[in-house]
Amino acid sequence: MEFEAVIGLEIHIELNCPTKLFCDCPNRPGDEPNRNTCPTCLWFPGAIPRLSQAALEKAALLCLGLGAEIQPRNAFDQKVYYYPDLPKGYQLSQAHLPLARGGGIEITDENGKLKRARIHHVHMEEDVARLVHEIEGRTPISLVDFNRAGVPLVEIVTEPDFSTPHEAIEFLKALRAQVRYVGSSECSMENGTMRVDANISVRPRGASEMNTKVEVKNMNSIRHVGDAIAHEIGRQSASVQAGEAVTLHTRLWDPDKKVTLPMRAKFEGPCIPDPTVPTIELSREWIDDMRSRLPEMPATRAARFVAQYGLSGEEAAFLSSDPDTAGFFEALTAEGIAPRMAMHWLATQLLPAIKERRQELHNAPVTPGRFAALLRMLSQDQINANAAREVLLRLFDGDQPPAAIVDACGFRQVSDPEALGALIDKVVDAEAAAVADLRNGQGKAMGFLIGRVMQASGGKANPKIVRELLGKKLEAIL
Ligand SMILES: [Zn+2]
Repeated sequence: MEFEAVIGLEIHIELNCPTKLFCDCPNRPGDEPNRNTCPTCLWFPGAIPRLSQAALEKAALLCLGLGAEIQPRNAFDQKVYYYPDLPKGYQLSQAHLPLARGGGIEITDENGKLKRARIHHVHMEEDVARLVHEIEGRTPISLVDFNRAGVPLVEIVTEPDFSTPHEAIEFLKALRAQVRYVGSSECSMENGTMRVDANISVRPRGASEMNTKVEVKNMNSIRHVGDAIAHEIGRQSASVQAGEAVTLHTRLWDPDKKVTLPMRAKFEGPCIPDPTVPTIELSREWIDDMRSRLPEMPATRAARFVAQYGLSGEEAAFLSSDPDTAGFFEALTAEGIAPRMAMHWLATQLLPAIKERRQELHNAPVTPGRFAALLRMLSQDQINANAAREVLLRLFDGDQPPAAIVDACGFRQVSDPEALGALIDKVVDAEAAAVADLRNGQGKAMGFLIGRVMQASGGKANPKIVRELLGKKLEAIL
């Protein structure tokens, strides 16, 4: 029997506002444990939560960026569950009246066909504390860090619109790009500011009923989400084939063994309306004001890049998938660098060099101004491409202008026809065999001769002029 998968995603995103959701403690979970706490986020009895305006705005922008409808009336509930990371016994979450409903993202399936993945709703909630399990001597101990308790989260719940790991991966990449654009979160799965749970079920291909789903957690990269989904589809298909029933439960992805393993269930209770946080009433004007603050979103920006700079759809999509990359590209073109050159050098040289150094484009020492100065020297034939690559690497070591590095390293390109002519004469004399090959119609020998001239110049010759002069010289003697 052939099976198809039905997949839905739940994505938790940590908002990057300065304080926690219901108190003024700093929103910095990575600080020294239990530093950022107060009676409200330690959940002392009687402490009254106060909703952060900044968190509400960041959450609303995120929703509007995804095309979701902000609900004029939304409210918090107490989601009851009992676990040491939540000593008050309930989490404040929006179970009944979420912040937004609807929206979605256009993705492409394996065959390149456009498909819309719909969002069911987006709600706000507080994060729980972090448990740290250690061994002290021979005794296992568990510690609790409340820095993360009360950190503002949004949860995006999709419709079960995905049928392959590829579609889920496409969605997550696009979602991450959109949320970064509106500036609500860095969405790093490695650092835990974006966490993904996947709900997966299988059914005979073409069937319409929904079978029991299994939830998979604990993936810390988008690639792991794809791997976990692929594994789970295989595992469930085999069980159904063998006549076993799939039971509703949660599994953890083990990235080392590349399998999903069953996880012990937490006690989960009811969701009851919370009486301490007032209902949130949002006026039409407030929602319109938020909408007016939305920046140009990735799809719109990509379309503009195609029209304005003559890039291909793929190049434009690559550049606009990250706001920093798109901004850097536009800064280069504003400096007068040709769009195609800017795109090429950014994608193939600068971004890989930054990644290798584990830096970020927005605070790397290679600013758009310095990079443009380097590319300008290249386009004006003052240096060749090899030298430009060398200088780029040295731009990371300090703040010298590229021209100073070029001079200090003697990279300035030799374009003087007289000097190059002399080198060419020498090489042609020395390489009689290659010249004979050319005479016999072996075109490869031309590349060889150019290489020899470049070598003789210590890599500094202008290859365009070498090719031109060598061509003339050979024409004369062949
Ligand atoms: Zn607090």
